[in-house]
Amino acid sequence: MSVPTVTLNDGHTIPQLGFGVFKVDPAETTRIVTDALEVGYRHIDTAAIYGNEEGVGRAIASSGIGRDDLFVTTKLWNDKHSTADAFDAFDESLEKLGLDFVDLYLIHWPAAANDRYVEAWKALEKIRESGRARSIGVSNFLVPHLTRLLAETDIVPVVDQIELHPALQQPETTEFARERGIQIEAWGPLGQGKYPLFEEEAVTAAAQAHGKSPAQTVIRWHLQMGNILFPKSNNRTRMAENFDVFDFALTTEEVDAISALERDGRVGTHPDEVN
Ligand code: NAD
Repeated sequence: MSVPTVTLNDGHTIPQLGFGVFKVDPAETTRIVTDALEVGYRHIDTAAIYGNEEGVGRAIASSGIGRDDLFVTTKLWNDKHSTADAFDAFDESLEKLGLDFVDLYLIHWPAAANDRYVEAWKALEKIRESGRARSIGVSNFLVPHLTRLLAETDIVPVVDQIELHPALQQPETTEFARERGIQIEAWGPLGQGKYPLFEEEAVTAAAQAHGKSPAQTVIRWHLQMGNILFPKSNNRTRMAENFDVFDFALTTEEVDAISALERDGRVGTHPDEVN
């Protein structure tokens, strides 16, 4: 079955399920992304700071998959928020990826102590105008950051990519964003293997009821909640498992039971602490 797409506020579409490459060793990235593309993933989420854009680019180049059949996201790092640095960083990312354009370019963190994310966003607006990023968005923006961006700039971000999984659902940010047409991308969708989501009764019971794994059950919960996600695995069997989630649906009761796992269970860093 094919992956559903989500329509962004600029009219472009994004595959709702993709593959993330945070902490994928640059030396292993080409093999791992080649595996992911062979499994069927068509949406890859990377970032300049991951140091593996070249490997992603090599896998894409040798895949034979048409550019329009792929969705590629990369991100601007925190020390590149000045206009000139943002332009240079974007050029460098495109070159490393070996692409003429990316589908989505994100500000990786607000890095609010540096107070330059509005300047960075204005640079991203120009990059989008140039056609070299089809869509632009943000990551790790909380309500105050989004509020300021919307007040001081022209283009509404298409997504906000935030840590989100059943134990940390960030209701304030997701509601605020969605009301303004900003889609939510869930990073750490499986709790990064750090939060024991797969042992929770709500997850294991639903998994058993559908003959699926706990990971598949959590991915299905995200899809039914409307989140865009790109779980990561270096292991091809798990990549295939995480992609095999379109032949079942959780009941409303199962979704609600998993949603009840909310407990402010952040496993990553709080945006206020990243600068
Ligand atoms: P994740 O929640 O996807 O967890 C990945 C880990 O889960 C794996 O390393 C493995 O230990 C485990 N796992 C994966 N599949 C499994 C399976 N089927 N069964 C059992 N265990 C399994 O965490 P992530 O990689 O941090 O998040 C996904 C993507 O989000 C990243 O690769 C990256 O693209 C993005 N991300 C963005 C930010 C940001 O600041 N914007 C931060 C972190 C991650």
